[in-house]
Amino acid sequence: MLSLYEDEVAGNVRSFYNRLFSRSDMVHKGKFISGVVPPVERSECAWWFVFRENNLLVYQGPSSAILPSLVALGELGLTPLSSHYLGRLDNRPCYTAEVAEGTNPPAGMTFEGLRRLYGSLDEDLFWIAARAVQIVDWDRTHRFCGRCGIALNMKTTERAKECPQCGLLYFPRLAPAIIVLVQRGDQLLLARSRHFMEGMYSVLAGFVEPGESLEEAVMREVREEVGIEVKDIHYFASQPWPFPHSLMVGFTATYAGGEITFNDDEIENASWFDADNLPRIPGKISIARRLIDWFIEEQGK
Ligand SMILES: [Zn+2]
Repeated sequence: MLSLYEDEVAGNVRSFYNRLFSRSDMVHKGKFISGVVPPVERSECAWWFVFRENNLLVYQGPSSAILPSLVALGELGLTPLSSHYLGRLDNRPCYTAEVAEGTNPPAGMTFEGLRRLYGSLDEDLFWIAARAVQIVDWDRTHRFCGRCGIALNMKTTERAKECPQCGLLYFPRLAPAIIVLVQRGDQLLLARSRHFMEGMYSVLAGFVEPGESLEEAVMREVREEVGIEVKDIHYFASQPWPFPHSLMVGFTATYAGGEITFNDDEIENASWFDADNLPRIPGKISIARRLIDWFIEEQGK
């Protein structure tokens, strides 16, 4: 299920990488405290993550994108369809809002896709935007109870919606997926999905099935995609992946047997590669790249 990364952009990303490269890189530099209950007084400047569909409203400078900091969205002349309090970043409130599809950006601003903003928007704000877009999407796509068909109420004390008739709760969607770097001696396994951009290879990834442990998902996915068995499965790191709502859980594993085969429609090619002779690989936004870079560093030791 490599299509998770189907439109991964390998280049076009400014290098935040030295800051990023560590196992704890998803623990952000700024102090963000998630919350659902907004401050009573709305008199202080807040970060506003405003989405038109899945595109974020920013001031686009020559080399960086800047998020609006406002007391209220009305300052930009915008009327949101909905808004949500997200929490505080370094004690500044953060809100997200959705505006109607036909909304024009205010003067000097644009609506940009999140992937394009990686590297030009402040790193902490980028990952809050990645959180915000999922909350906006969840709100947009969870309006009615699937059992009763009546309108849901937003809960005020937790990030959830509740059916006023049957009490069924609806939380933001999150699809866990595994991503695994498989080693055989001094080589690693990379595969190419037919959805990838030309020439690009990556490590294997796939969604976790109900009833399955993460380790079982790793073994199944590798077996299904390329027909080999793995052992020594170790946790590496995790990464929220908001395209649209995955949590990527990264692992390393060791080859345990079998020959590479790829019969399914998904994989176009798969092979063992040396660290010093790699094909085109995913961009630095992704945990796939961090796994591959970790492997390269290990080989150099
Ligand atoms: Zn219901």
